[in-house]
Amino acid sequence: MTGILIYDTVMCILAFILGTVIGSFLNVVIYRTPAHMSIVNGPSHCFSCGERIKPYDLVPIFSWIFLGGKCRKCKAPISARYTFVEALTGVMFLAAFIRFSISWQLLIAIILFSVLIVLSFIDIDHLEIPYWCTITIALLGIPMLFIEPDFPWVEHLAGAAVIAVPFAVLALFGGMGGGDVQLMAAAGFLMGWEIIPSAIIGVVLGAIYGVISKAVNSKRDKEINEQIKAEFSEWIKDRMTADVSDIVVGEYEKGVCKINADIIEEKAWNNPEAFKDDCKELEASLTEIAKDIPENKEFVFRVTAKNGVVEKSKFQQRIAFGPALAVGIAIGVIFGERIISWYLGLM
Ligand SMILES: [Zn+2]
Repeated sequence: MTGILIYDTVMCILAFILGTVIGSFLNVVIYRTPAHMSIVNGPSHCFSCGERIKPYDLVPIFSWIFLGGKCRKCKAPISARYTFVEALTGVMFLAAFIRFSISWQLLIAIILFSVLIVLSFIDIDHLEIPYWCTITIALLGIPMLFIEPDFPWVEHLAGAAVIAVPFAVLALFGGMGGGDVQLMAAAGFLMGWEIIPSAIIGVVLGAIYGVISKAVNSKRDKEINEQIKAEFSEWIKDRMTADVSDIVVGEYEKGVCKINADIIEEKAWNNPEAFKDDCKELEASLTEIAKDIPENKEFVFRVTAKNGVVEKSKFQQRIAFGPALAVGIAIGVIFGERIISWYLGLM
């Protein structure tokens, strides 16, 4: 009895340590792949002084604590996020081991969790979920067909289909992006029906996150929206014809405002041919209005106008839903079966 207990404890510790080591590598992937840098060539350097980091300072979690979160040479602070990613990966590997013990499912789960961590942080930094992450998750569904033969391919396809439709609708009404829909379809293919509790948890977490981030920035966003409205009102005065309304949409990305000049209602404008060129100066002044927004944030704006008068304008931040969806998927993988049987027990 004690033998088993010691074995389990040692295996749990090993799972956590393996996770922190992989997490250390995931940090490199998160930082380097969006910049198209090699993940294998080139050792890690300090971002401040460029000093190559010594192997003994690369021990996950401990090095950062031991160095007090500072570079050994120049004492520049090292982001706590690296250590957080290492610890998080350790915890997820531990959770996967407790759920699946040594099995093929364990291997699938730790690959999945690693990809989820990478895509979450890339989504936070760049507001985009890389294709290779989504494709990797979908491909993990193929070995599952052999690992769990009583879980037929029809159920995998059903999982993808049942989730893709409602998420595509969510994307259509704003908020979610195409990357979020692809992620959920890929996870649905991997997980089958167990994607349903994951999706519900993901959407609820995403909505809470969206409401909080909107509340935190609402004053600034309202002010910018007012200025955009004023700028537009001035600009469209002589450019619109009477009695036809139109919606002008655009976005703020990487510090620049852009108007989507290809989707205008031509009848509404005096000179639709010149619209594109005319937009240039408007874009420049909108960029000036939004100049205090950090460059890694993205916004969409939408202005409804009629008779040369702005009726409505909206300026809304695009939110990274990847992390919320990833948390939902991870909870579904670990507890999905239990959640589903609990739910079926209620009926
Ligand atoms: Zn340094």
